[in-house]
Amino acid sequence: MRPALLNPLFAPVTSLAGVGPKQDKLFRYLLGRNETPRLVDLLLHLPASVIDRRTRPKIRDAVPGTMVTLEVTVDRHRPAPPGRSRAPHLVYASDDTGDVVLTYFRAQPGYVEKLLPVGARRYVSGTLQMFDGVPQIVHPDRVVDEEAFAKLTGLDPVYPLTEGLAIGSLRRAMAQALQKLPNLPEWTSPEIMRRCKFPPLAEALNRVHVPVEITDILPDGPFWSRLAFDELLAGQLALALVRAQLRRPAGDRNADDGHLRNRIIGALPYALTLSQQKAAAAISDDLRQPVRMLRLLQGDVGSGKTVVALLAAAAVAEAGKQAALMAPTEILARQHVKTITPLAERAGLQVAILTGREKGKERRELLAKLAEGEIDFLVGTHALIQDDVVFKALALAVVDEQHRFGVRERLALTGKGDAVDVLVLSATPIPRTLVLTYFGDMDVSELREKPAGRQPIDTRTIPASRLDEVIAAVGRALSAGKLVYWICPLVDESEAEGTDHLTNASKRFETLQQRFSDRVGLVHGQMKGTEKDRVMAQFAAHEIGLLVATTVVEVGVDVPAATIMVIENAERFGLAQLHQLRGRIGRGSEASTCLLVYHEPLNEMSAARLKVIRETTDGFRIAEEDLRLRGEGDVLGIRQSGLPGYRIARSEVHGQLITQARDEALRIMKDNPKLEGDRGEALRCLLYLYERDEALPLLGAG
Ligand code: ADP
Ligand code: MG
Repeated sequence: MRPALLNPLFAPVTSLAGVGPKQDKLFRYLLGRNETPRLVDLLLHLPASVIDRRTRPKIRDAVPGTMVTLEVTVDRHRPAPPGRSRAPHLVYASDDTGDVVLTYFRAQPGYVEKLLPVGARRYVSGTLQMFDGVPQIVHPDRVVDEEAFAKLTGLDPVYPLTEGLAIGSLRRAMAQALQKLPNLPEWTSPEIMRRCKFPPLAEALNRVHVPVEITDILPDGPFWSRLAFDELLAGQLALALVRAQLRRPAGDRNADDGHLRNRIIGALPYALTLSQQKAAAAISDDLRQPVRMLRLLQGDVGSGKTVVALLAAAAVAEAGKQAALMAPTEILARQHVKTITPLAERAGLQVAILTGREKGKERRELLAKLAEGEIDFLVGTHALIQDDVVFKALALAVVDEQHRFGVRERLALTGKGDAVDVLVLSATPIPRTLVLTYFGDMDVSELREKPAGRQPIDTRTIPASRLDEVIAAVGRALSAGKLVYWICPLVDESEAEGTDHLTNASKRFETLQQRFSDRVGLVHGQMKGTEKDRVMAQFAAHEIGLLVATTVVEVGVDVPAATIMVIENAERFGLAQLHQLRGRIGRGSEASTCLLVYHEPLNEMSAARLKVIRETTDGFRIAEEDLRLRGEGDVLGIRQSGLPGYRIARSEVHGQLITQARDEALRIMKDNPKLEGDRGEALRCLLYLYERDEALPLLGAG
């Protein structure tokens, strides 16, 4: 139960004066929520900059293009002439050094007259522009009289906005929300408060929203940092609480003598790489410990994570228990099953798949077998976490491409067994601070080397103006019996509003089909699962040679015979995404080629990205470059600065705080693991405020 103390902060923003249904929509969009945002969401929307209105030049000295506050006397009005409502309403004003024109478009009748009465003195703020040599301010941000001006600090926060939402409405809503801020107990320990020189929460919120100094809103300043620390602490504490539930009763083991694993290894058509062997050994060790496993298996695309996951599942089966693998997409789940099944069969392991597509009788039979323990290894999508999916003895949860799943999903899966070990697979090398932020204290295994016998990929960049040559080359490749991927950023026109030069897959499919007839297939995310599979299978079986696709093939798809990839609008893809896409080729024993087709002109960032991708196929180097070019958020493939899932903390600024928050969370878990007493209550408040309360029910009442 949420502490009642927090209720005012969880009231909807529509309870504020001036926030109606229209604003509700805008606020949802702005704050990224599906439902009406609460006051807490609003308060955690921090300013991007501040306007300093303390600069009050004379009109003559005001610099065009800058934000100024002028002290003027209103001389006369020139309203829009009758019948010409599109013409602006002009107000002529002056000080003792010159004249300024204040311009209003589509003003309500009488509004401007009331705001700027002739003869009155007003303080007018806005960006000064020159029109025909006359200083002008179009739609001043603020017009106040002397009395009101005296009350202002002269610093106005500027927020990230969304179209249709005026800064004034946002500021008014914010001011009201600040008024409603309850007196909350302090959850941060006195030592941290002292060491980091943090202000109390109320002061931090007030100073970022009502800055007294320009520096008050800086992310590395004390106020913002305090809020970032809170957010990080909430995240670390939630992870630690989840982890604390992950302890196995003494004597209970999730791996036995290795007989099944040895059978699988014996059946492999290749030798495990050294890092695969090491990872498998580390996992096997974890599975025998009383502390439950929380391990990240990090390895570039094609480094062979699946077989390591299979060996983990086999270890669990040796102990008579079950394993599950959750993949982010259906294609990927099926891919895993295809790789795993023949190997698993050699060891007598029963593998099954469960996605949204298994229905009716088939699904019922599968679930019955699962509950009986007749299935050893269940692979699927998030369909695995549905309530009626019941295991006899789930002991291992493997989560592929973890960052696509939230903590909630991970919990839902591990909640299906008593002593569930967790193995996370990630193709994206995740920097240390990010591992800590998203997983807490997690052990990491890395697959550094590529399986032997892999051929290098020749990567080239080509302007779209030479597309004909690309198509001709593809034609030659098809005639030579090669398999070719052709990647487009979009599915169809409807997505493409305002992006006319972005190529869509459906259109490209048509033009290529005209040229190469039935040798071409199409897959994209909006197709039905069965349809996607059919086309993928045709491609794998070489029935078609050219596969036009959107980024559905980005993750995990494995057709080793494919050796050529064309990526259109390559400049639009992130570095990590390009690397993932390209990882679909160069998987077999033949040399591969990747053609990056770009539209000119290339901006600096896109040019830098294409250069990196051309120069290297080393995923770790690419991740580092990506980090350097765009900040850590993007390593996870999410286009925003800062940390995905975090509103306030930013990796580049608050890296230090992540470790501090981790240490504090560990101390709390040691001293007060059930979050009891006053401090416990305060910490519960913190978890609710930052929506990290999912682990609280695990603690039971307290
Ligand atoms: P990823 O790490 O991208 O998930 P996969 O597990 O899909 O990689 O493996 C990619 C391909 O490499 C698969 O076809 C797999 O059979 C093969 N593979 C895995 N390990 C080795 C190895 N040690 N030697 C040769 N091929 C391997
Ligand atoms: Mg994979």
